[in-house]
Amino acid sequence: MEFTNMEQCREAKRYYAVSCARPLKWARNDSNRVRLKFEGDNKQKVPCPWMLYASHVGNGPTIRIKTYVPRHTCGRRQRTKYATSSWLSKRFDEELRDNPNMKVTDFMKLIKKHYAIDVTEAQVYKVKSFLKIRIQGSIQEQYGKLWDYCEELKSNNPGSTVIMKTELQVAFAGCFCGCRLLLRFLRLVL
Ligand SMILES: [Zn+2]
Repeated sequence: MEFTNMEQCREAKRYYAVSCARPLKWARNDSNRVRLKFEGDNKQKVPCPWMLYASHVGNGPTIRIKTYVPRHTCGRRQRTKYATSSWLSKRFDEELRDNPNMKVTDFMKLIKKHYAIDVTEAQVYKVKSFLKIRIQGSIQEQYGKLWDYCEELKSNNPGSTVIMKTELQVAFAGCFCGCRLLLRFLRLVL
């Protein structure tokens, strides 16, 4: 199995680590190679043989899995350190945006349904705050683009006036120059 680059490979392994919810650790994790193996804990004296090693193919960006031992002798856990709040906020981004008032307990059930793991209430609040930061960032970015466009309109239409009104976090712009381009831009932005 191959991955386009190291980032894609790491992301796939992170998905696996959350899904399998077993005590795994990155034995190696650098720009050239990654090795994920049994971490070990007090519950198991004999190490689990499961192991996955991937590295670059030649000098290109492609990463290939070169060693894979699929057998687990360790058991699933109820929690995994790989399901971080940051990762969960990206993984469930769509669900949370569609349902921003989702109850904490409902979100915990959603995670359990997909990954059969438990997360704490504090973690769920953190997940929501990560998402909020991302949403605010993207609104500010779009808002900045709107101002840039107004400036461009003014410079391309000397003597015209551009008025931009904002209400809550939704930007609305009106332009006295009657430029159709602005309407097209608004359709893209809003
Ligand atoms: Zn194992």
